[in-house]
Parts: sequence; C-alpha cells; structure tokens
Amino acid sequence: MFTDIDSPLQRLKSFPSHQILVKRDDLIDPYISGNKWRKLKYILEEADIQQKTHLVTFGGAYSNHLVATAAACARKGLNSTAFVRGSENECANNEMLMLCRLFGMQFIFTDRLSYKNKAALFDNQFGNNTSALFVDEGGAGLEAVKGCAEIIAELPNDVDHIFCAAGTGTTAAGLLIGIQQRKLKTQLHVIPVLKGGDFIADEINRYIGNTEQLTLHTGYHFGGYAKTTPGLISFIKQFITTEGMLIDPVYTGKMFYALDHLVSVDYFKPNDKIVALHTGGLLGLMGMKEKFR
Ligand SMILES: *Cc1c(COP(=O)(O)O)cnc(C)c1O
Repeated sequence: MFTDIDSPLQRLKSFPSHQILVKRDDLIDPYISGNKWRKLKYILEEADIQQKTHLVTFGGAYSNHLVATAAACARKGLNSTAFVRGSENECANNEMLMLCRLFGMQFIFTDRLSYKNKAALFDNQFGNNTSALFVDEGGAGLEAVKGCAEIIAELPNDVDHIFCAAGTGTTAAGLLIGIQQRKLKTQLHVIPVLKGGDFIADEINRYIGNTEQLTLHTGYHFGGYAKTTPGLISFIKQFITTEGMLIDPVYTGKMFYALDHLVSVDYFKPNDKIVALHTGGLLGLMGMKEKFR
C-alpha cells in the first residue's frame, strides 16, 4: 500500500467518435479508493514523520473519506476516530459506518452546529493527546493537493482535456498544479456536484493563482449534493451496462453525464484526447439502493 500505483487508462466504448480515456483510480483499492487514496498518501507520511499513531477526522455518514481513512489506518496499524455529522440514531443502519467500524474506527456523533467548528471539536477532545493528528474533512489540505498532482505524471503528455468531479475542489487544485508543473497545454474541466459550484474556483485559488486552464461546469449538480433526477439515474444505469464500469450518483455519475452532454453538443474537436478521472467512491451506491431497483 502507498507505493506508487499507476492505475490503468481504459477507453470508453460509448463514444466511438472521440478518444475518451478513463483514469481508473477507482481500481487502486476497493475501500481506500480513488482520490481519497491520493489525498491520504502524504497525510499518512506526515503521521509517520510526526510519530502520530491516531488519525482524527470528520465526515458525514456517507463519507468516502471516512471509509478510506478507517481502512488505511487499519492497514498501517494506526488508530482512527471520526467526528460524524448527525446523531447515532440517524446513522444506525448506515453501511459505510458499518465498514468503518469493522476497520476499527471510533465515532463521536456530533450535532450539525458543533460540527461546524472542527478545530474546537479536536481541541476539546484531543488537545492534550500527543499521538493524535488532525485530518480535515475529506482530507483537504496541502498534502492532499500534492498527492492529487501526481495523477498528472501518470497520464500521457498530449491530453487536451481532463475531467473531474469536485466536492471541495482539493482534487481539482492538485490536478491543475500537476498540469502547470509539467507545463502541459491540457485544459482542466471541473464538475461541481454541489449547487452554486462557483466557490470551487475560490478553493482552487487558495492553492494556485493561475486558473487560465480551468473550466468550471456548474450546471450539472442535479439539485445539489447527493441529489439526483430520473434522467441522471437512467444515464448511470445505461453507462454501467454499456461500459461494464461502476459509477456513482454523487460524484462520477454527474461528471460522466456532463462529459456525455458536452460530446453531444459538439463541444470538442474530433481528434481531441480526453481523460476522465474516475475518483472512485462506489460505496456511495449503497446509500441509494432504492433508486436503482
Ligand atoms: C470525495 C470525492 C470527490 C471530491 O473530491 P474533492 O477533492 O473534495 O473535490 C470526488 N469523487 C469522489 C468519488 C469522491 O469520493
């Protein structure tokens, strides 16, 4: 684990007119999947350097980051604790938290108001605990950006467009930094999965000043975070059947929908080389079972 894994590139069949390759970061690991693996890589290295043996982090009940952190900590022999947004009752039947628990993660259920001040939560409970390391929600931070920038080094140099889904924008910031470090001509297309996704540009600006190579497509949130429409669900079903590749309704489903739509309106030139980053997160399907009956 956490050696350099070059995840495969797979060409999509559904778009014979265009060369669309998927960077299969979902295949890195079933639980420490996709961008969460990229984001944790240097956080775990930092824990090692600082001799921290206990990762303390934050997330909602369906957070891919929590599962990834719990699994990574178990494999590294570290303890993990999560402040979970919501009450124990609300989260009782949650499949993701069940997996976290199996990996040995401890939970502190936190009401929505207290959850807003993560630094205070950490200080109250772990302020005097020298073995504990604060890890922000989703793993956001400089280490995460550094880990995500490495994705670019695993891609061909002549990619015209890279697509990724964004929650906080940390992954996108890393990709843009990777593109600029290598002086590539690649355009980065980001699909915010939340409503009002323009804030992603501000988030990216915290890490990098020059955003000329960034295009935000803010019209594919389908009502907001974890919201779906019948159109999105039927697109996802069709995509999975045709490509034999799972995608989820929270993140990658929205990104591939956007990509499919842009192809259909002739957004790209015929010979453009396009890479879509599969950021993983397939356990998100578990929380939406009833939508895929
Ligand atoms: C967390 C997550 C994202 C969002 O990553 P950010 O760095 O927060 O923008 C995208 N896709 C998947 C599958 C995720 O789990």
